[in-house]
Amino acid sequence: MAEPFVFHFRRGENSAPEVMYMVDLYCRCGLCRHDQYQRFYHATAFHSFTLAVFNRLVDEAHQKADYECENCGTMVGADHVLKVAVTYGFVDDAGIVRGYLDRESGKRRYQLVARRRLDPQEMPHWEPDPELGTSLDTISEQSVDELLDRPFNAKLAWIDVVDDWLEDPEGGAYARIAPGFWIVVDASEDAANELTAEIEDAQFADGKEHGDLMIVALSESVPEDLATHAQPQSMAGRWQTWLPQHIVEALLEQRIWADAYMSRSAAVETIKRTFDTANLSYSVDVTDADVFFSQITTPGEGVYGRGLSVSSVLRRAVFTGLTPGEAARLTAEEIVGVLLRVWK
Ligand SMILES: [Zn+2]
Repeated sequence: MAEPFVFHFRRGENSAPEVMYMVDLYCRCGLCRHDQYQRFYHATAFHSFTLAVFNRLVDEAHQKADYECENCGTMVGADHVLKVAVTYGFVDDAGIVRGYLDRESGKRRYQLVARRRLDPQEMPHWEPDPELGTSLDTISEQSVDELLDRPFNAKLAWIDVVDDWLEDPEGGAYARIAPGFWIVVDASEDAANELTAEIEDAQFADGKEHGDLMIVALSESVPEDLATHAQPQSMAGRWQTWLPQHIVEALLEQRIWADAYMSRSAAVETIKRTFDTANLSYSVDVTDADVFFSQITTPGEGVYGRGLSVSSVLRRAVFTGLTPGEAARLTAEEIVGVLLRVWK
């Protein structure tokens, strides 16, 4: 059976993307004690979505309960919620994170499952499933990184690497952020280039050797030719809006040079899979420096007006602090959304 197309994003205020998460509530009628589940597919601002926000969603989820008891017709609300489960699936397929709250005991549990996609049709779970791996009593940036091999929000990873360098500039700073994604920071472009010789990472060496890694400087990352945005320099999530002031100043005064190294082929695969599951056809042109999607067309022969370059998608990842996989999925979904008229 063909994989169904699931929209992870929707357009929020000022065209800023919102990302979907799933809330399940286990409720018991206050009058007749009849049990029912209620599920919500809600969306939250994508660029500012952090672990702290996720925890707040878990804490506040019960307030969404609102229905008439199937058995006696009494209104069921927040006070009648016994258990809560909130599920978020990283759109780059790194995995899912699930937060559980037992409202009677106040006890929280978490489960992180690597390389699993959000399944909107999955039956609700009310506690971690031991078959899927370890459960946690608390969740931290570190546990997300260890179990899912990515940061919860890549913006915080940028800030971490740059702050590391500012504290101790000697020898530069670099880090692998997620599969196919590295950040390198030093005092100048040349110093940052030289620093990459020190990165002992087979994936990095392999990507470099085969010409698969694209280098994008943070300070020069505006995705000028991004097909989905007429004015990319002012798009939602640009680094000027979330980097701390001391880093913005260091970048503008060119006291610091920050590069991202990203796998082109991983982004290409994500874009292809998104278009394929949406039943779109397209042409792909590959050059040494870029990969270009054009003639992106629906089965009803609606054609997207512009072509999509993978380099612009990777620039978007840097410019707006996303993982390359997130930028690829978001951009491809924006095109699908416009072509299928889900997004106006
Ligand atoms: Zn009832």
